[in-house]
Amino acid sequence: MPAPKRRPHSPSTQSGHAPRKRFGQNFLMDQGIIHAIVQAIDPLPQDALVEIGPGLGALTEPLLSRAGHLHVVEIDRDLIARLRQRYDLEKLTIHAGDALAFDFGALGHHLRIVGNLPYNISTPLLFHLASFAEHIRDMHFMLQKEVVERMTAAPGGSAYGRLSVMLQYRFYLDWLFNVPPESFDPAPKVESAIVRLIPKPAALLDADIACLEKVVATAFSQRRKMLRNNLKDLFSADDLAALAIAPDSRPEQLPLTGFIALANRLAGKNG
Ligand code: SAM
Repeated sequence: MPAPKRRPHSPSTQSGHAPRKRFGQNFLMDQGIIHAIVQAIDPLPQDALVEIGPGLGALTEPLLSRAGHLHVVEIDRDLIARLRQRYDLEKLTIHAGDALAFDFGALGHHLRIVGNLPYNISTPLLFHLASFAEHIRDMHFMLQKEVVERMTAAPGGSAYGRLSVMLQYRFYLDWLFNVPPESFDPAPKVESAIVRLIPKPAALLDADIACLEKVVATAFSQRRKMLRNNLKDLFSADDLAALAIAPDSRPEQLPLTGFIALANRLAGKNG
């Protein structure tokens, strides 16, 4: 039987690190893309920069050369050991552990969070990060293109859902550019994209957040059903009429302002 083919100059092979699928390890190789990402972030020495999943350092290296200091959060012990050996630990603070459980608030304020995120946990990670919005100045992430489509979707289409509403409530979102699979090693099966998230000022956040989360999750629990059915345990027909929400509309047709109105009515009912 012929030996399995290896990519002779695959840098993850060169580095001796076998990519781990369970940690979503697709390492960025394309120097043009790396440069474009760092340009989009435009890090300055005084910035409070945080990288999620530094991996083999594709972004870490150029970020560190422009910033005075960088926090990184990495789960893979082998990669953590490499980072410890390779970098000046006065400039690189390594937080070993799961970004999904990490207290980003402990790193201070005005955080600039970046990362080529592990795609298998990107949605829960975005929700986790959203809960630290008041600590964040901006975020730049590489994500699966389909996730960026959902994040930035307008009402009316199938991409519009819980992720769109909850992120658009808290952040200004900017889809910057797409990244093809060949830019990574190993190449993922899907297209990727870079997105920027900037928290909205507190003065614009006029919803009761717990109620908003509840209303949005309940409304989208069954996408094909009408709003009046999905929301029947929370709102009467009169509630919907008072907010000028068509009871026979589908959740994907309701804009962010409609969800905010529902959340605040629910907060009022709860007293
Ligand atoms: N930044 C590197 C690059 O661009 O080449 C690696 C990106 S790779 C897509 C994702 C990185 O996130 C890996 O280093 C992986 O070990 C790390 N990672 C995966 N799950 C994680 C988690 N729950 N918390 C922190 N890091 C995680």
